[in-house]
Amino acid sequence: MTDITSLTAAEIAASIKDGTVTAEAVTRAFLARIDELEPTIHAFLHIDAEGALATAREVDAARAAGETLGSLAGVPIAIKDIVVTKGMPTTAASKMLENWVPPYDATITERIRAARMPILGKTNLDEFAMGSSTEYSAFGPTRNPWDTARIPGGSGGGSAAAVAARMAPLAIGTDTGGSIRQPGAVTGTVGAKPTYGGTSRYGLVAFSSSLDTPGPVARTMLDAALLHEIIAGHDPRDSTSIPQAVPPVVAAVEQGLTGDLSGLRLGLVTEFEVGEGAEPGVIAAYRDGVETLAKLGADIVEVSCPHFQYALPAYYLIAPSECSSNLARFDGVRYGLRVGDNGERSLEEVMASTREAGFGAEVKRRIILGTYALSSGYVDEYYGQAQKVRTLITRDFEAAFGRVDALISPTTPFVAFEFGARTGDPYLMYLADLYTIPSNLYGGPAVSVPVGLSDGLPAGLQVMAPTMRDDVAYRVAAALESTQTPLLADQAPDPAKGA
Ligand code: GLN
Repeated sequence: MTDITSLTAAEIAASIKDGTVTAEAVTRAFLARIDELEPTIHAFLHIDAEGALATAREVDAARAAGETLGSLAGVPIAIKDIVVTKGMPTTAASKMLENWVPPYDATITERIRAARMPILGKTNLDEFAMGSSTEYSAFGPTRNPWDTARIPGGSGGGSAAAVAARMAPLAIGTDTGGSIRQPGAVTGTVGAKPTYGGTSRYGLVAFSSSLDTPGPVARTMLDAALLHEIIAGHDPRDSTSIPQAVPPVVAAVEQGLTGDLSGLRLGLVTEFEVGEGAEPGVIAAYRDGVETLAKLGADIVEVSCPHFQYALPAYYLIAPSECSSNLARFDGVRYGLRVGDNGERSLEEVMASTREAGFGAEVKRRIILGTYALSSGYVDEYYGQAQKVRTLITRDFEAAFGRVDALISPTTPFVAFEFGARTGDPYLMYLADLYTIPSNLYGGPAVSVPVGLSDGLPAGLQVMAPTMRDDVAYRVAAALESTQTPLLADQAPDPAKGA
């Protein structure tokens, strides 16, 4: 019998529906895979075998009772440990929240439970989702299943590694500047950042509220789309949630998989093409991808987005500014860690020792930077200026989408790097998100899909679409995927064999 963990989420759902396999057997297969590989990969911060099995048994009972099962009922999922889960620890990979068990569910967690998807556990990330390698997790890094000496991307490296290593068929990530897409690219998985406001932020541990967007991590575009339709949609508890119908991403993938892109016009960003610092192998894989898209019938043109070159500096003022405000809540008083409270020290002293002990170096760097950028006297010069740049970037996107249906780029300038290669200089780490950040500042959807290998390691192609046109991004990425399957399927990551 085929190993259950090699099936796609869509195939697993179908097998459960037609009775080929029970949901319980599916969950057990993934738990066994986790047992086997977790010591090497360290994708998880918490594993909930019993909870997952209980949900699986509910699905089997529902099926036995003749109930119609939902699209992904019984398909296990792993959730990035920055999304709150009632009764299950949520740490944001920070000592600050090490022992915190949330009393409520995030909206997307609620929707996953309602869809009866067994939750396998919570995945590792850079502390508070700040980073591009998971090396900033307070609980040790995750390893890339393709090469365990290398990073799995970040901040959502745990989710991407879990899916790449077949420890979970699906996972949830959050993308503020690239944390779903960049890990997807460097692990050979699909990472989809929905339109900002298309998926609810209610119950995410907040990093940068005007940018944070939860979304799917999967092995195929169809699996990502099925999960997208479960978690997306208006949520009255999130004031920036968009009260519109969810874009039809599943239908768009089905259309894309026919391999016909005629009638679509795709834009290559001139400024990215000349951008320095991208690895030749990544550029080559990307160029092959563009050629393939042209063969599938897409009309390819060049589009200038002159302000994209300022996206990185603008992001590194806006995101730290918002994080300095959001992380003020970790004060040693309300919840989470408290250090040095001996009954005699002042509130300020306890607060200072708590924050000193609870936050890692990268988080502190951003709090300091953000506090400075917002301080009176500098707020116009830094934060205000960055917001103006953000508007110009949005206008670049709007002008581009007057001419093309979607924009195409590499997802990230380099393949998975070795541990320690970029921790010495924050700027080197920030460069990982050179191509992903513009769409966060604009708010539109962007998908990373595997586009082959560079020196034996996965590369990703990014498709960026207009806001609430997630379907366009999914369609283009699915068309590319339909030409790529043989390449990656033959080299499916198998650290059990490879390590
Ligand atoms: N790597 C980027 C950062 O460090 C993006 C993080 C994210 O998307 N959460 O901020």
